[in-house]
Amino acid sequence: MNRTSSYGDPARFIRQLHVAEDCRDHPYTREIIQRTKLPVSYLKPGQLPAIEGDYPANLDQGKRHLLLCRNRGVIFKPCPGTREYTCCDYQVLNIGMNCPMDCVYCILQAYLNNPWLSFFVNVDDLVADLDRVLLKEQDQFFRIGTGEFTDSLAIDSLTGFSPHLINYMRDKPNAVLELKTKCAVIDNLRGLDHNGRTVVAWSLNSTPIMAREELRTASLEERLEAAAQVAQWGYRLAFHFDPIIYHHNWQQGYRETIAKLFATVPAEKIAWISMGALRYLPALKKIATERFPFSSFFYEEFINGLDNKYRYFRPQRVAMYRFILDELKKYSAEQTCIYFCMESEEIWQEVFGFVPGDVGGLPAMLDRSVGWSG
Ligand code: SF4
Repeated sequence: MNRTSSYGDPARFIRQLHVAEDCRDHPYTREIIQRTKLPVSYLKPGQLPAIEGDYPANLDQGKRHLLLCRNRGVIFKPCPGTREYTCCDYQVLNIGMNCPMDCVYCILQAYLNNPWLSFFVNVDDLVADLDRVLLKEQDQFFRIGTGEFTDSLAIDSLTGFSPHLINYMRDKPNAVLELKTKCAVIDNLRGLDHNGRTVVAWSLNSTPIMAREELRTASLEERLEAAAQVAQWGYRLAFHFDPIIYHHNWQQGYRETIAKLFATVPAEKIAWISMGALRYLPALKKIATERFPFSSFFYEEFINGLDNKYRYFRPQRVAMYRFILDELKKYSAEQTCIYFCMESEEIWQEVFGFVPGDVGGLPAMLDRSVGWSG
């Protein structure tokens, strides 16, 4: 199935700004209000955006609302991997919550309890947090991502945030920033002196999955054209086949996506490619199947994994990984690191024929792919 029309910038789904009391006079708040020209409601102390209905049924409506507020929690922290599966040592930079796109499998539906989007305007605190870690621990390498609780670029046309971050990262020799997205909003990345410290990443899937299960995202062609463009601007790229979903004709779907990827994007610009089969918290199935009654992939057979997430049976995961890895290897450059996100050592051994520990560990494999030798 191919999409016939493009949704365009997912930020256009947002119709209303809300401003927390203590951010009213923040210069960044004023800048965003000025740029977006959206209607604004100023909240009283303790007041939250009023969205009708109960969560999560009101997510459709909630995703139209953007709250500008402060992040009072930890801004910069390690990705919550689990001991039982091999983790890549990613650092999460928390710039906001939720996203105007709507993927059936999105874990945020089960993780969040508010339907609106948030963006944290206290970037001065964010920079202070980053400085505190990056400047203090200069012999350690940090791969930093903003796409854990939101999409890195989905509301960038409203916030204008990516240039701030890319400019900050350009002279940080011990870190690389990964902006991970499913949209094609790249205008703010043009013309920046990024000094190779930013990798721009797209999540990819088989085309029927992208068309059916990822609302308001960019099509495969749009994502790949955007990737080719940022590669021309000198950025390195990354791609994430995650979540890999079993569906009718899945081999053909993933084969087509991979062939188009390498037909559009220069292989040598790709720093890393991850693979991760669908895994989900028990609470997600109920939420997603109620919100998206026509979606059927949750009705396959799953086992409850060691991290209390459901995943496909091991032979099925191995079959899908082997197929996708073989397709990727037809085209990928030698220096591109292909890896699993959250898989067991047994699966690594079965699919890759080695475990990360044999070659210094997964974090070191990824660090080497962006030139850090430790
Ligand atoms: S793009 Fe990412 S954050 Fe947004 S709905 Fe999809 S999975 Fe969730």
